[in-house]
Amino acid sequence: MTKIFDIAVIGGGLAGCSTALHARIKGASVVLLERGRCGTQASGVNYGGVRQQGRHSAELPLARRSRSIWSNLETLIGSDCEFTVTGHVKLARNDADMAELAVHRTVLRDHGIHAELLGASDIRRRFPYIGPGYAGASLCAEDGHANPRLVAPGFARAARALGADIREQSQVEAIHVLGDIFSVTLANDPAPVKARQLVNTAGAWGASIAALFGDCVNEAVMAPNMCVTEPIAPLIGPNLGVCGGGIYIRQTAHGSVIFGSGLGTADRDALSARPIADVTRDAAAAAIAMVPQLANVLLLRSWTGIEGRMDDGLPVVGPSPNTAGLFHAFGFSGHGFQLGPAVGAVLAELCIDGHSPTSLHGLSITRFNRAANTHV
Ligand SMILES: Cc1cc2nc3c(=O)[nH]c(=O)nc-3n(C[C@H](O)[C@H](O)[C@H](O)COP(=O)(O)OP(=O)(O)OC[C@H]3O[C@@H](n4cnc5c(N)ncnc54)[C@H](O)[C@@H]3O)c2cc1C
Repeated sequence: MTKIFDIAVIGGGLAGCSTALHARIKGASVVLLERGRCGTQASGVNYGGVRQQGRHSAELPLARRSRSIWSNLETLIGSDCEFTVTGHVKLARNDADMAELAVHRTVLRDHGIHAELLGASDIRRRFPYIGPGYAGASLCAEDGHANPRLVAPGFARAARALGADIREQSQVEAIHVLGDIFSVTLANDPAPVKARQLVNTAGAWGASIAALFGDCVNEAVMAPNMCVTEPIAPLIGPNLGVCGGGIYIRQTAHGSVIFGSGLGTADRDALSARPIADVTRDAAAAAIAMVPQLANVLLLRSWTGIEGRMDDGLPVVGPSPNTAGLFHAFGFSGHGFQLGPAVGAVLAELCIDGHSPTSLHGLSITRFNRAANTHV
């Protein structure tokens, strides 16, 4: 007789792997279905920024909860995934940016997140390697970065060790609802997978899974253009960014400098993403403007990945309005790595407890229906 799982998870990125782990911790039987290998799409190829500041207020409850999981990774999954609390500095180009950072600081404070405003002289004194011309900055000392290649596989391994059925090379082709059971057809297995609840964490492919249930939203694709240099002596302390979303830079513990700016190209049907040479050149120039000592550092490689982007730049996280037992979390719009651990914890709570203490206000898939209605 076919086993009926409590929960089936589609997609082995960080959101899905964290869901599987947290569902097992809560005692549910869980199967995770991943087309390729866990963490090979956006979750494994991103910049590695683990920052709370700079986020829309709707994301901050998740970001806050995630931050506490990030500092507990060693206990949770047996590896810290190189999570390092370096702080995140968001630089202001002018007084208008400074005013924006001051407003954002109060929003962060409302969510229990402390950020310190710095003037131009503070930047020169504390971060002398940063180039001239910035009016000031906001420093969130508890933000940092991690090695994305380690995180989703680490959650998957921990979930498997607790008894989750993690199935890689398992592409979901079709889903049928038979009474209160989801029956999931795989490309490589004639036996369907059956579960009472279904979690859609299919990343840039999430909207196409949601559409199978009439949950229709527009999810575009984006491909942040990334670069890595040869290792150099320790230079850059915090994870650096700038108002307006231009260049962002961090240095890993072994010395490589990773930076990103602009977009490459991605074809999600072909599972292919490529950086663009001109964008890479512009990013390198912007990196040197921000940290002039990078001028003679060798650029080793550029790359990008396939990320889903919602029209308002916020992810969809929460239950389906049309199908009981179905939950979505996709379209993280370029900033879901930091959120991933908490997204999994919350999805497990929604599936098993029926509610979560973490607010998802503003992230429901239904917000797009409302937006459509207001334009009628
Ligand atoms: C280049 C780049 C840089 C980024 N930098 C940052 C950053 O610094 N900080 C930050 O917070 N965020 C960043 N992001 C965003 C972040 O990486 C993503 O938001 C996050 O990893 C999304 O996780 P996910 O689990 O939702 O999706 P994914 O990691 O894409 O996982 C979805 C999985 O679903 C699988 N799947 C899809 N369809 C099917 C199917 N039919 N059957 C089976 N499996 C399926 C896919 O194979 C994939 O593995 C960046 C993204 C990119 C691309």
